Amino acid sequence: MKGWLHASLIAGAVVLVAALAVVLFLSTRRRDRRDECRFHLMRMHNALAAAAPATAREWDHAPKGRAFWERSDDWPGARIPFDRRDLACPVLDRPTGSDYRGPAASYRALGPDDPIAADRDGNHLERGNVLLKSGTIVEADERLWTRAAKTTAD
Ligand SMILES: [Zn+2]
Repeated sequence: MKGWLHASLIAGAVVLVAALAVVLFLSTRRRDRRDECRFHLMRMHNALAAAAPATAREWDHAPKGRAFWERSDDWPGARIPFDRRDLACPVLDRPTGSDYRGPAASYRALGPDDPIAADRDGNHLERGNVLLKSGTIVEADERLWTRAAKTTAD
């Protein structure tokens, strides 16, 4: 009887350790994917930086929301080639291929601290990453997420 109890304690400990390892592995992988998502936003910003200056009036005619990123061929000025796969958020198990909100107003009219791209709601478990016009990329806190909901559109 004593041997049986001992064996079940060991089995229980093994199951517990295995479960903890799985949880740790999944949370690390999710964090890595959130980092990868920020690289996508960085490359999107690099493409934008190679287009017309942010002050150019032609920006008023560029598409708004997700279409802004989907139709980068409509941007004014010179552009660097832009890999469409960067528009897929890597945190999603099934990315749609257009997972980032774009500017809700003319890119020209937004200020340096205004979000111009953001994860769509539900991409990450909670909130998501945000690209500011200045090029700064951050994992949004509640305040920035609320602000991004105003300056970016789906
Ligand atoms: Zn993301």
